[in-house]
Amino acid sequence: MDNTTPEIRSRMMKANRSCNTKPELVIRSMIHRMGFRYRVNLKVIPGKPDIAFTKMKKAIFIHGCFWHQHDVGCSCAHLPQSNKDYWSKKFTYNRQRDIAVQKELTDLGWRYLIIWECELNDIDIVRNKVLYFLNNNEYTSKLVNE
Ligand SMILES: [Zn+2]
Repeated sequence: MDNTTPEIRSRMMKANRSCNTKPELVIRSMIHRMGFRYRVNLKVIPGKPDIAFTKMKKAIFIHGCFWHQHDVGCSCAHLPQSNKDYWSKKFTYNRQRDIAVQKELTDLGWRYLIIWECELNDIDIVRNKVLYFLNNNEYTSKLVNE
């Protein structure tokens, strides 16, 4: 599935120079430096978000491009060539779980932001995204396109 515009695509391609192994740590320390307080991996919140702002009811999910099969333009998300059946089942399962989490969070009045691991190649864009998300009470992203 691919519904990004050519402009977004080319920005993504540019951002995909490398894949990050510890994106959560990078984002957490960035948010910490911004002065926000958060909780990590709270089990009581649907989807156990990587970062949760419980008073604001906002959650940030940092998605590994491979596990969540980021758009085909993302070089971190390429499909393995062996065991294709296994992987395609696994990815379908992940996607269904994301859809369920998205619905549960929305029903509970939470807003959420997805940050893809490949986006960390441009930390300024990520910082702006996070600031916009935390300062704007209407904004929410989609965990997955249904
Ligand atoms: Zn990606």
